[in-house]
Amino acid sequence: MDNYEEQRRKGGETRNAAICTTVQAALSQNRLFFAFQPVVCVATGKTDYFECLLRMRDVRGNIIAGAEFIAPIERLGRIGFIDDYVLELTVRELARHPRVRLGLNISGLTACAGPWLQSLVSLLRHRPDVARRLVVEITETAALSDLEEAARFVDTLRRAGCRVALDDFGVGHTSLRHLETLPVDTVKVDGSFVRNLAEDGDRRIYLRDLLGSISGFGCNTVAEGVENAADEAAARAEGFSYLQGYHLGAPTIERIWLGQNSTSAAELHWSTDEATPDPDDKRRAPIHTLLPAADH
Ligand code: C2E
Ligand code: CA
Ligand code: CA
Repeated sequence: MDNYEEQRRKGGETRNAAICTTVQAALSQNRLFFAFQPVVCVATGKTDYFECLLRMRDVRGNIIAGAEFIAPIERLGRIGFIDDYVLELTVRELARHPRVRLGLNISGLTACAGPWLQSLVSLLRHRPDVARRLVVEITETAALSDLEEAARFVDTLRRAGCRVALDDFGVGHTSLRHLETLPVDTVKVDGSFVRNLAEDGDRRIYLRDLLGSISGFGCNTVAEGVENAADEAAARAEGFSYLQGYHLGAPTIERIWLGQNSTSAAELHWSTDEATPDPDDKRRAPIHTLLPAADH
């Protein structure tokens, strides 16, 4: 590696490590929380589940989207503490809101590591009602190339009663080969295939082929990144089972299933307002008080 490349790599690592330290501090000071985005069923027009998307409030009160800090931490190989925390936050949310279904994101790195899965299984062992309302979205990374391990992981999640979705399908490392091996319920097709679908004939032909191949595996499909009515119509015409994107509903930090007025989290990137607290906020309470039937 030449000197320039080495300097660049070291610069990148230093920056990523600084981001990681900032996020660890945010976690310990309770400044990490979710925005919730609906995934809408084409057949019924109703929300099937809300995807939990991590947000960080910085020390000045600005809200930072996951896109800004998750990938750098993943590149360092240190995403585990986030995935652990997200599991705990999501299970608490499900226990407190008995009618809602939620999806959480985990890194492909976590999908090949044992402790996260053990925590999930022991948390949900005696709570099939909570497990049934949880969708685990596995974000693809190179780590998913350990396919046998990933397949065991998916299988265990499904036995625990959860649904499993393969995220960002069509970009990066995921491919039809993964679908042959991984018994997932749902495939989320990356927004880059959906955006401008109405106007781009080549994209549409490519997508049609992709959906044809996915349907052979009996999976549901989600169109991500639906931003306008024309793309929604095109995605419906191509036969997606579910739709997600700003046009169907932007991520909101308020829990819209409670019927509150919601604020677009897309707008909150520039906001310094306090996030609306959950009126029944028990984040600091021990998790067993929220999951009384859990195994102790
Ligand atoms: P993702 O799982 O594919 O999530 C979708 C991202 O696209 C979200 O960005 C969401 O806010 C954004 N989005 C939603 N609808 C639209 C749309 O119509 N157009 C456009 N352009 N974007 C849209 P966000 O929240 O910044 O998250 C970025 C990525 O960070 C996520 O991609 C996921 O890979 C990761 N991530 C987010 N939350 C978590 C988490 O709790 N744990 C882990 N491990 N990763 C997370
Ligand atoms: Ca996702
Ligand atoms: Ca995605």
